[in-house]
Amino acid sequence: MKQVYLDHSATTPVRQEVLEAMLPYFSEEYGNASSVHGFGQRARNAIEGAREKVASLLGASPEEIIFTSGGTESDNLAIKGLAAAPHVRGKQVVTSAIEHHAVLNTCTALEKQGFAVVQLPVDRHGLVGAEELRQALATAKGDVAFVSIMMANNEVGTIEPIRELAAVAAEASVPFHTDAVQAVGKVPVDVRELGVDLLSLSAHKFYGPKGVGALYVRSGTRIQPLQHGGHHEKNLRAGTENVPGIMGLARALELACEEMETEAQRLHELRDRLQEGLMDRIPDSLLNGHPVKRLPHLLNMSFENVEGESILLSLDAVGIAASTGSACTSGTLEPSHVLTAMGMPPGIAHGSLRFSLGRVNTAEDIEYVLEKLPPIIERLRQMSPFSK
Ligand code: PLP
Repeated sequence: MKQVYLDHSATTPVRQEVLEAMLPYFSEEYGNASSVHGFGQRARNAIEGAREKVASLLGASPEEIIFTSGGTESDNLAIKGLAAAPHVRGKQVVTSAIEHHAVLNTCTALEKQGFAVVQLPVDRHGLVGAEELRQALATAKGDVAFVSIMMANNEVGTIEPIRELAAVAAEASVPFHTDAVQAVGKVPVDVRELGVDLLSLSAHKFYGPKGVGALYVRSGTRIQPLQHGGHHEKNLRAGTENVPGIMGLARALELACEEMETEAQRLHELRDRLQEGLMDRIPDSLLNGHPVKRLPHLLNMSFENVEGESILLSLDAVGIAASTGSACTSGTLEPSHVLTAMGMPPGIAHGSLRFSLGRVNTAEDIEYVLEKLPPIIERLRQMSPFSK
């Protein structure tokens, strides 16, 4: 059976060039980068080379890059690290209602330490407004410890006005973190241009390995480490470095940046073809997310009177892998917090699907989905008690 993978926002395959960059560091160059001998020094040099590469691709300095175990750890280190920093000023944290759980739940955990979490609303396209942030900071009267707002949303792909938002935080001298896990490798990311103080990324979203990520920490921004041990990563992330993972992350980012313009254009065209085809063929379907300010490879749509999970299962049966992008997978049947925050009624939010395209996808794949999905929706609607 034909297999069509349209879930690249969940994860991507490790590309061959990346695997090749990693392989020597498993069994030939296996030294511990903290050791003084040649084995150790070769591992150290490899890591520092990777750090320089990652820094230059993000517009940062090498000493501002901390390697971690992925996006979740980077978000935790940024958020808990800022909250525990000795100079921290306030007892409020400002975030948005549509963050990934790696940010939302980490902020919620801070409530137990006496922090109050302010979640900024979004408009119907999922955009956070600079004016809302300005007002939240003004209302808090200097009591805000930091702001954390994602660069691109993982469910609907909306790209937030980070430069503007970071400038508002800077005016109030409040540190600004952005979860750029879905943006890095897909759209240009330059930390200086954005004006952010901290930025999270994760290798497995751009054809690197799982379990490795990075946190950019602008020099002068003080955070506390989460774990204690050796003096690795400038005392901010104790633990023997994952050398193959770090090599893979750097190579994957390099390739993603080299190919970004052409690949984004190609995926944009395929995505638009999918969007238009589904809109034409499926009545009562609507687009979620910003029509323009959106990741080029991502399409989130709702189909009235059908349940996203049922569509996913039927698609899987014909070899198509997509996602609901919602919390339904946890068995709670809660509609997505992102779509709810965008003002979508639960009945429609339940029928949403996320398609995220990637390197392997072709025009033929899109035609296959356009052939298979409309009859699935029609059949499910006929079975639905809510159908007209
Ligand atoms: N933040 C966002 C926006 C994400 O989409 C994800 C993963 O889906 C994460 C954080 C977590 O990253 P990781 O899987 O590397 O822990």
